Amino acid sequence: MTRPLDPRHAVYAGSFDPLTLGHLDIIERGARLFDRLTVGVGINPDKQPLFSPDERLRLAREVLASLKNVDVQCFQGLAVDFVRACGAAVMLRGVRTLTDMEAEFSMSLANRTLAPDIETVFLMASEDYSHVSSTLIKQIATMSRDSAEEKLRGFLPEPIIRPLLAKCRGE
Ligand code: ADP
Repeated sequence: MTRPLDPRHAVYAGSFDPLTLGHLDIIERGARLFDRLTVGVGINPDKQPLFSPDERLRLAREVLASLKNVDVQCFQGLAVDFVRACGAAVMLRGVRTLTDMEAEFSMSLANRTLAPDIETVFLMASEDYSHVSSTLIKQIATMSRDSAEEKLRGFLPEPIIRPLLAKCRGE
C-alpha cells in the first residue's frame, strides 16, 4: 500500500550551487507556511557544479541550522520521486521573472502528470532578491578584484562567502 503524503510537509528542490539569499528567503517563508520543509540538493550527473553535492549539503545545513523545522538532504533523479520518498505532498518553488514563470509552469504541468497527488506551490521572489541567481554570483566572485567579500554580502549568506571565493580562486 502506498503511504499517504503529508500536505503540511513541503520539499524545496534545486541545485543550490551555492545557496543564495534568494533561496534562503524562500526557505524561511516556506518554513513559516508549512509544518516541515525539506531542502533537496539535487545531484545531476550531466551538470558540472562548482560545489560537490557533499559541500552543498554541508553549507546548506550550516546556513539553515537555526530553522528547526527545516532539514537538508541530497537526492538524485526526478524531484517528484524525491518529494514522494520524503512523504511530502507539496513541492515548493520560487519564481523571479516571467522567464522563470514560463519554465516553472511547464515543469509543474509535467510534474502533475507524473505525480497528480503532489501539488506545486510557488512563492514570488522578494523584491530584494529577484535579480539574484547562483550563476550571477559565481560571475561576481570570479571577476571581483577587490572587496569581493563585501560585494558578495548582498547576495549570499555569510557561511557561503569564503568557500565560494576559495573555489573561484582555485584555492
Ligand atoms: P535549479 O537548478 O532547479 O534552477 P536553483 O537552485 O537555481 O535550482 O533554484 C531552485 C528554486 O529556487 C527554483 O524554483 C528557482 O526558481 C528558485 N530561485 C532561485 N533563485 C531565487 C531567488 N533569488 N529568489 C526566489 N527564488 C529563487
